[in-house]
Amino acid sequence: MGSSTRTLKIGIIGFGTFAQFLAKTMIKQGHLIRATSRSDYSGFPSVHFFRDMEEFMGLEHDVILICTSIVSVSQVVKSIPFHRLKKPLLFADVLSVKEHPRKLLLQEAPQDSDLVCTHPMFGPESGKDGWKDLPFMYERVRVKDETLCSSFLAIFENEGCKMLEMSCEEHDRLAAQSQFLTHTIGRVLSEMEIRNTPIDTKGFEKLVQVKESSTRDSFDLYSGLFIHNRFAKQQLHNLESALERVKETLEARMNNN
Ligand code: NAP
Repeated sequence: MGSSTRTLKIGIIGFGTFAQFLAKTMIKQGHLIRATSRSDYSGFPSVHFFRDMEEFMGLEHDVILICTSIVSVSQVVKSIPFHRLKKPLLFADVLSVKEHPRKLLLQEAPQDSDLVCTHPMFGPESGKDGWKDLPFMYERVRVKDETLCSSFLAIFENEGCKMLEMSCEEHDRLAAQSQFLTHTIGRVLSEMEIRNTPIDTKGFEKLVQVKESSTRDSFDLYSGLFIHNRFAKQQLHNLESALERVKETLEARMNNN
């Protein structure tokens, strides 16, 4: 496991918080990182930043990694000047929903390029002390160059991630009932403005943590989990009806007393 040490030229599209977090580890491993984004991140240490997408796409890349927000990915990918590519390469993405970028990249990326869809199940906060044992989901959607794909996945393997190969559909089904639900509860708790008290139970401390970690991510990220995961709407409905049932049970007990 994780023996590959090939140095990769990785071009990142969308260089916000999460991409910068990933880039630090990739640089530490010796990979060459070039990036482009809507905002100007030139000056980020050890990354060659390109304001011009045409110029960026004309570089020699092994991997192009899509790290934009879920809600902007369609517009961003459709505006990529693919004709500038010098050779077939590997497209990868790290979006927190998977069926959406899979379909989009299959439609838009050149047929002769490879595609791996991934979701590191951690972020700058949960991964700040390293990625050991943190789950990393991926689907090898279209892979001809096995060595290149394995070298890319090895970035995560070598950090000790728990590597989970599964379909994008299965990911979205599971993530709707885990990640989307967590973020929704966090956002609800935030609306309720819950705060620590001097008599917090351990359970309540965890609720405050859920609120804080959910609201630390952008609203673009959260709304993307709902808009572009076809299983999320059902989970929202399940949550509403479960709350209603709990309320009814309590009221029935009160009326029986
Ligand atoms: P995000 O709010 O989901 O995405 C921010 C990124 O999207 C920035 O690079 C931003 O570019 C770009 N962007 C937003 N709107 C755009 C537009 N209209 N046109 C072009 N680019 C646009 O925050 P994030 O936390 O950095 O997440 C990035 C991706 O990683 C998302 O797809 C997210 O689902 C995924 N992810 C995040 C985490 C996490 O813990 N945060 C974990 C796993 C996966 P500029 O900065 O240049 O404006």
